[in-house]
Amino acid sequence: MKHQPDTVSKVDDWHEQAQCRDYKFQRDDKGEVFNPWFPKTGKAQDVTSEGMKYCAACPVALDCLVWALEKRELKDGIYGGTTPSQRRAMLKKKKAA
Ligand code: SF4
Repeated sequence: MKHQPDTVSKVDDWHEQAQCRDYKFQRDDKGEVFNPWFPKTGKAQDVTSEGMKYCAACPVALDCLVWALEKRELKDGIYGGTTPSQRRAMLKKKKAA
């Protein structure tokens, strides 16, 4: 299982360099797969979360963030090291400028 946005019909070059591409997903005690880029609680999206650590070292974080903003990924998920609320704030700020 890969995190990199796979809902896109066309795979862009930057996906090949995604830090999360080779992440080894594991199941918890209940058999559920924990996805650090789509944590089920807001608390897990803080800057110390596992997903954020990958994003911080990702060479294509900016491409990922731009993709998420263009696709209006504003409800959930970590993209480019940002939370949904951070992305909403970015778009709001851009709109106001
Ligand atoms: S910035 Fe994060 S979510 Fe985006 S490709 Fe890189 S590791 Fe994956």
